[in-house]
Amino acid sequence: MKNLFKKTEFVFGVTNYKNLPDDAGSEILLAGRSNAGKSSALNVLTDNPKLARISKTPGRTTEINFFKVNEDLMLLDLPGYGFAKSSKAKKKDWGPLLGEYFQKRRALTAVVIFMDIRHPLKESDWEMIHLCRNFNVPFIPALTKSDKLSNNNIAKAISFVKVKIPESTPIAVSSKDKDGFDSLSKKILNFVK
Ligand code: GDP
Repeated sequence: MKNLFKKTEFVFGVTNYKNLPDDAGSEILLAGRSNAGKSSALNVLTDNPKLARISKTPGRTTEINFFKVNEDLMLLDLPGYGFAKSSKAKKKDWGPLLGEYFQKRRALTAVVIFMDIRHPLKESDWEMIHLCRNFNVPFIPALTKSDKLSNNNIAKAISFVKVKIPESTPIAVSSKDKDGFDSLSKKILNFVK
C-alpha cells in the first residue's frame, strides 16, 4: 500500500491558541502518556525515523507540534502526559491551549490515543477520552508495543478496551515489527474531511 504519510514534515510548534494557523483542513491530534510509544509510531507511520525526534527536542516538549501530511491534513503531536512532576509542569503550559483548542477548533477531526497495550486506560488516558467525549470528537485507541504480547493476549487487550469504550475501535500496533500501521493509517484517513 502506498504510504500517504510519507511526505509528512514538521512545520512548527505552538504554545498559544492565537499562534495557530488558519482553522482549515483536517487536524488529527496524537496523544498519549510519556513512553507510550507515540514517537516510534509516528516515525513508522510516516516512514521517517527522524521525524518525531523533533517533538522531543528540548524547548519543543511543551508545544503542540504540527506535522504537515499534505495540504489538507496535519498531525498534531501533543507532548506526552502522565508522568508525575514533569507532566504537571507540562500540563500547565499546554493545558489551557488544549482546552481552547477542543472548544474552538473546527479542523479538529479525530484524536489518536496511544496506550501501551499492556497498560491501557490509565487515568490520564481517561482525561483525554472525557475531553473527546465532551466535545464530540472521535478517537482511535492505538494499543502500542503489541510485539510484547501473544496474539491471544492482544485479542484480550483489544476486547478489554472495546468494552470500556464501546464507541471506539481499538487498533493494535507494533513499531518494532511495523505491524498494524495499514489499519491505523486507513482509520486516520477515513476521518479526514
Ligand atoms: P513516547 O514517549 O510515547 O514518544 O514513546 P517512544 O516512542 O519514545 O517509546 C518509548 C519506549 O518504548 C522506547 O524505549 C521505545 O523503544 C519503546 N517502544 C516504542 N514502540 C515500541 C514497540 O512497538 N515495541 C517495543 N517492544 N518497544 C517499543
